[in-house]
Amino acid sequence: MHKDFAAKVSSSATNKRSARKRPASQSARKWRVALSAMKWRRFSLRGSGRWLLAAVAGLFLVWALAGDGETSVASSAITHEEWIGAESVQEAAADSSWRRELIKPGDAAAPVLMRMGYSRTEAYDILHAARPVYSLARVNSGHHFSGRVGAAGPELYYPIDYERVLYLSKRDNAWKAELQPRTAFSRTQAFEGEITDNLFSDAARAGMDDRTTMNLVDIFAWDIDFVRDLRNGDRFRVLTEDRFDAEGRKIGSVIRAAEFINQGQSYRAIRYTLANGSTGYYTPEGNSMRKTYLKAPVKFSRISSRFQLRRKHPVLGFTRAHRGVDYAASSGTPIHAVGDGRVVFSGWKGGYGRFVLIRHVNSTHSTAYGHMRSYAKGIRNGARVRQGQVIGYVGMSGLATGPHLHFEFRVNGRAINPLNIKRNPAEPVPAAEMARFRAEVEERMQAMTVGINKLAWS
Ligand SMILES: [Zn+2]
Repeated sequence: MHKDFAAKVSSSATNKRSARKRPASQSARKWRVALSAMKWRRFSLRGSGRWLLAAVAGLFLVWALAGDGETSVASSAITHEEWIGAESVQEAAADSSWRRELIKPGDAAAPVLMRMGYSRTEAYDILHAARPVYSLARVNSGHHFSGRVGAAGPELYYPIDYERVLYLSKRDNAWKAELQPRTAFSRTQAFEGEITDNLFSDAARAGMDDRTTMNLVDIFAWDIDFVRDLRNGDRFRVLTEDRFDAEGRKIGSVIRAAEFINQGQSYRAIRYTLANGSTGYYTPEGNSMRKTYLKAPVKFSRISSRFQLRRKHPVLGFTRAHRGVDYAASSGTPIHAVGDGRVVFSGWKGGYGRFVLIRHVNSTHSTAYGHMRSYAKGIRNGARVRQGQVIGYVGMSGLATGPHLHFEFRVNGRAINPLNIKRNPAEPVPAAEMARFRAEVEERMQAMTVGINKLAWS
């Protein structure tokens, strides 16, 4: 898996030196893989159970490499965008006469409207009409406009949030704007399950859809390393709320509360909207679920869960010899910065191959990412990165016998066990709101544990 591990294996062999000085070129990689597999097999014939294990692992790895071409896995990778947002909103396309335009990062409303076919003048007329009701001076990326020319004239929707939609219509040559409630119907559901096989299928068996499962993973991304730390017998409970419009089309789904018991440790999260309007997930004590560092630099996905279970090859943890944590993942899997910081090194670094080093806001902390296949756009020395931002893609550059990410957490430049890192939570629920917060916690926890299935008009 990694140079330290490989070195450890070969150091027990008769010719230590030659094993260390393996050729590093790409073309030699296949040979190296075959070679190390042969070595491991030889050990197993000779000896102890430990080497037998290593041999089996090595063969698994070779088989894994042979069985899965890079492209086939990478192209089928499911990505989802709410690393932080943990909610999904799907606007049902009413019919094909509606034209829908997504707002991209950095977009302003006018260019989006112009992409939809409105002239510049018309676009500004729309913004002007909207202003008294809802300002479109700032629009959120990921949101969208949908518009059409109906029987009575052009009309346009801008869903503002979970509850409100801005409706614009042109009648008698003038645009008119109004705010409309977005939902007519809500459904609360509680789900409960246990890990027996893999999170996605266990969650599906409990009745959850994949989006909800991914959102669940996102909510606990600061506490649980879903790629490495899931175990059979882990349990989860989830309370969701789905919203529907007057025609019964689903317009959104959020997790209201969730609990995940990982290796005997319980983590709970409540969705709560502060008096200032911002929504987030909090522990029942009122601490933010967000913390300085994400638990893992690789995101758990349907692909990675299958990958981990099928392969069962060794994924190394922190030891004195290894000094990092390895994440087995298919080539091309996105690698995320675990915290805010600045790239201090991005380039080839010996056995690490393509390597990125990030210095975090607390300047004694840095994280290192090795064996990348490639860097993400904009990742270069001096670049600022945000928590969760994609910095590169899993590969096997440098001394690696299979695609994986080698991850290190360093304090004052020395690699330490990531388990020992303090992850300070973001701002808690303000003291002034604690009474209201506690009441919501109580209600949610009860709903989640009693296992209600509630349908309600809102
Ligand atoms: Zn490693």
